[in-house]
Amino acid sequence: MKADGARGGPFRFEVGATSGRARAGTLRTPHGEAATPAFMAVGTAATVKALTPEQIARTGTEIVLCNTYHLAVRPGEALIEEAGGLHAFMGWDGPILTDSGGFQIFSLASAREVDRDGVTFKNHVDGGTMRLTPERAMEIQRRLGSDVAMVLDECLPYPSSDDVVRESLRERTLPWEIRSLACHPRDGRAVFAIGQGGFSEELRRECIEELVRHPFDGFAIGGLAVGETRGTFLRMIDLSAGLLPPGKPRYLMGVGSPREVVEAIALGVDLFDCVLPTRNARNGQALTAAGPVRLRNAAWARDRRPLEDGCGCEACRIGLSRAYLRHLFLAGEMLAGTLVTSHNLAFLQRLLGAARRAIRSGEFARFSAEFLAGYPAAPEAADAP
Ligand SMILES: [Zn+2]
Repeated sequence: MKADGARGGPFRFEVGATSGRARAGTLRTPHGEAATPAFMAVGTAATVKALTPEQIARTGTEIVLCNTYHLAVRPGEALIEEAGGLHAFMGWDGPILTDSGGFQIFSLASAREVDRDGVTFKNHVDGGTMRLTPERAMEIQRRLGSDVAMVLDECLPYPSSDDVVRESLRERTLPWEIRSLACHPRDGRAVFAIGQGGFSEELRRECIEELVRHPFDGFAIGGLAVGETRGTFLRMIDLSAGLLPPGKPRYLMGVGSPREVVEAIALGVDLFDCVLPTRNARNGQALTAAGPVRLRNAAWARDRRPLEDGCGCEACRIGLSRAYLRHLFLAGEMLAGTLVTSHNLAFLQRLLGAARRAIRSGEFARFSAEFLAGYPAAPEAADAP
């Protein structure tokens, strides 16, 4: 082992098998590998809430996402660097991807002022004024020691007009992404670009065609799953994946509902993250192959079945019942969050594992059709005018 705990080689991505447009591969990083398609557990503040690192690993999770904004605000990247970096600090020695902080600046911070060079804002913890530029976002992620860094982009509200999206793309997002790449250390760790462009096919295309001219290690599809219809969502992924180079990983940001994950894998997506499976778990919503189960519901009061037979999570593997889980939620017990977080991650990782096996055996279309037929669709949104 190296002094910083790194045990792998430089970043690499290999596609090992395809089935239709779906791909199964391996993401290699300085801190080990992740089989793709992969779901990244969200560890916002250097913790996947309610789980220990061992419990995270037992769900089958191989890669964790941490939020640069939250960590830069508290405890600060200098303290984490001093502690040996994020892996040592949080006790997770597998791959870590960090976002750029942009998404939280645009969703949590106040008094935002965006200029050509970056964004100045007041953080949501102590109201302190902070500034983030592409260079600063890369510097923080380097000091955190993540394996994959994300470029800084501008996150726009939904809906935004094509004119607003175009101006943001040309004046800020694209120049910021190229600047992020230019100051990345290229030291074996990776930097991913982010395809933006709102819901305009022309702008999505313009953005990705520019980004793929530069040597990014991977490409994300950003700004989706914000309230658009399922049709628009899938059309944007289809278009984006079709423009991205086949040898580089494709990461669909902020998507983690079982249906959408399976549908996006079919279009050639390799990486996912979403806070909902873990956040919903803490609110009493458990994932099952027949759809989400609301554990506070009286229907489970005397139900002695585990959430899912054969699940290896902290609850199901020792046979804890739906009735017991419901009781823990109603009684406000901390253990409830731990058990259902473990279950929801184990459910998703099992789904991704089954998807990878189906791709490797050339049967992804059949797998996907069978899964989608049994899993209820979420209520449909209407596209904003
Ligand atoms: Zn379970």
